[in-house]
Amino acid sequence: MHNVVIVGAGCAGNTAAVYAARANLKPLVVTGHHPGGQLSLTTLVENFPGFPEGVDGPVLVENIRQQAEHFGAEYVNGSVVEASLSDRPFRLNIDDRWVETRTVIVASGASARWLGIPGERQLVGHGVSSCATCDGFFFRGKKIMVAGGGDSAMEEANFLTRFGSEVTIVHRRDQFRASRIMLDRARANPKIKWLTSTLVDEVLDDGQGRVTAVQLRDVKTGRQWRQEVDGFFVAIGHMPNTAPFRGQIELDAEGYIVSHGGARTSIPGVFHAGDVQDRVYRQAITAAAAGCMAAIEVERYLEAAG
Ligand code: NAP
Repeated sequence: MHNVVIVGAGCAGNTAAVYAARANLKPLVVTGHHPGGQLSLTTLVENFPGFPEGVDGPVLVENIRQQAEHFGAEYVNGSVVEASLSDRPFRLNIDDRWVETRTVIVASGASARWLGIPGERQLVGHGVSSCATCDGFFFRGKKIMVAGGGDSAMEEANFLTRFGSEVTIVHRRDQFRASRIMLDRARANPKIKWLTSTLVDEVLDDGQGRVTAVQLRDVKTGRQWRQEVDGFFVAIGHMPNTAPFRGQIELDAEGYIVSHGGARTSIPGVFHAGDVQDRVYRQAITAAAAGCMAAIEVERYLEAAG
């Protein structure tokens, strides 16, 4: 029986593991499908305190993991596919192996959202991507389009200008959700072109099995046209990874965990950390802080439970 199982090995989960391991709780960390979480998909992180020159996202999250392992955290590759949280001890099914635990920290993060338009899913890996740092390299000298108007879209577009001959940001409104600094940086980049108030209706392959163009529509005038692109990156936000906990932990309409104060969920002994609950801040530093809070709550809960 474990004291605590931490579900997720991103910034939140790994930080929870550092704290829980230092509290001698010997946490088990289940990495999930994307060890390292969102940080492993970013490039330079410039706003994590303590790094005046910035720090590479994947390096940062791997360092936190090593720090946790140094204090005795155990990592297991795999995903929690089912949870039984109505009885004690809690039970978690990790790829068909059930483990028992006195407490759980859900730090399973959020995954990229897709537009849901024809051609999109079929062409993932063939010109469609949700991760510029993973796939940008394949589009050297090519025409790239990025869908979205938030910080992710700005960051991805900027990054992709290293590779693409041109990068077009397509956004459904003429106002941007992105922060001023990220928007200004993208606007100052001469390789970035803009299409606002424009919807992407379809990703096309012209029978070639790879992205060749997109079908676009101006939402104000209704004008439709086709634009040739080689790479189509979707950067329209994320969905929380809470499927195994549905019907057990209280979730909001979009599936994010509803906080019951601090790191508490609707179930005593089950705690949340990071993007799986936080739809507002979603920063590396807030995820780290949430991991810290969850581990401290676990420690206090176990102390009180005796
Ligand atoms: P976001 O802020 O939620 O922005 C999502 C964007 O996608 C919005 O512009 C939204 O349009 C658009 N969108 C959503 N669904 C769409 C659809 N079906 N069709 C077309 N467009 C759609 O998500 P995010 O950019 O991933 O950022 C999430 C959080 O992470 C934010 O807090 C952000 O500050 C943070 N972040 C920070 C950094 C950084 O500082 N380095 C980098 C990345 C992310 P509307 O505006 O019309 O809704």
